[in-house]
Amino acid sequence: METRIIDGKAIAQQIREEIREQVAILKEKGTEITLAVVLVGEDPASKVYVRNKKNACEFAGIISREILLPADITQEALLDTVRQLNEDPAVNGILVQLPLPKGLDADAVIRAIAPEKDVDGFHPQSVGALSIGLPGFVSCTPAGIIELLHRSGIDSEGKECVIVGRSNIVGKPMGMLMLRENATVTIAHSRTKNLREVTSRADILITAVGKAKLFHADDIKEGAVVIDCGMNRDEEGRLCGDVDTADCMGKASFITPVPGGVGPMTVTMLLKNCLDSVSLQSEETV
Ligand code: NDP
Repeated sequence: METRIIDGKAIAQQIREEIREQVAILKEKGTEITLAVVLVGEDPASKVYVRNKKNACEFAGIISREILLPADITQEALLDTVRQLNEDPAVNGILVQLPLPKGLDADAVIRAIAPEKDVDGFHPQSVGALSIGLPGFVSCTPAGIIELLHRSGIDSEGKECVIVGRSNIVGKPMGMLMLRENATVTIAHSRTKNLREVTSRADILITAVGKAKLFHADDIKEGAVVIDCGMNRDEEGRLCGDVDTADCMGKASFITPVPGGVGPMTVTMLLKNCLDSVSLQSEETV
């Protein structure tokens, strides 16, 4: 079987251009979009993520406001910063870069973000809205995967979908989204028995584990769509996913590479959430 590589970079770029057009239209009507990004401390990986988000905003015409705070900030001072951003009418989206330095309670900070500005989609209200089918922000990585499926012409309806990983930011919201797509959903995790039997049943396999090349051709069904969220390093230190992509070539029908698959979609969906925040916020004020 010929395996088609899903080019996440190209799809992400296409969506970013669409967003840029929408942002420009809003700007002409006098509406500007501002994302506030809060970075606490000096974590080098977090700094890179924040820089990527800033560059992506710049491309799309979204204003990014960086708020840099010292690693020894108190929980209360951090919560105050979030509250000020909540109340600032010029700010549409608030993102607190995770992980936070030791001693700070990330869950409390997420809960403090106004749900209508929660562009990461991590607030309990956003998660609840997704579960019961109400409008709200959806976590960016799973939302990006849905776009990858749609734009690759993959129909999920009635398909057996196995998601490996049950984190709050990827696995669980992914499960809700695939239900919304009318797939039959299984969420597997570290306690799943006979994991490889479970993954072999999947018409659509989505891995969000964080273990280099955990899955091989033997673990997937002939013709499966394989979506790999993993961002790992192999034994030579190269970036790789949870799936041994080369091994699955010829068996999967579609596969996302790492890098260049799911990764570029995450920041893209953050831009999309910032764009959507404008209509969500105007609905709130009606
Ligand atoms: P977490 O560490 O929060 O969750 C990992 C999940 O995998 C857990 O549910 C865990 O099960 C499960 N798991 C761990 N080991 C196994 C195993 N051997 N067999 C089956 N299940 C297992 O990770 P995240 O969800 O945050 O991220 C997952 C991966 O996706 C990481 O590589 C991360 O870097 C990447 N990622 C990529 C993004 C992108 O933009 N491309 C964005 C977000 C994440 P249990 O719950 O039982 O512990």
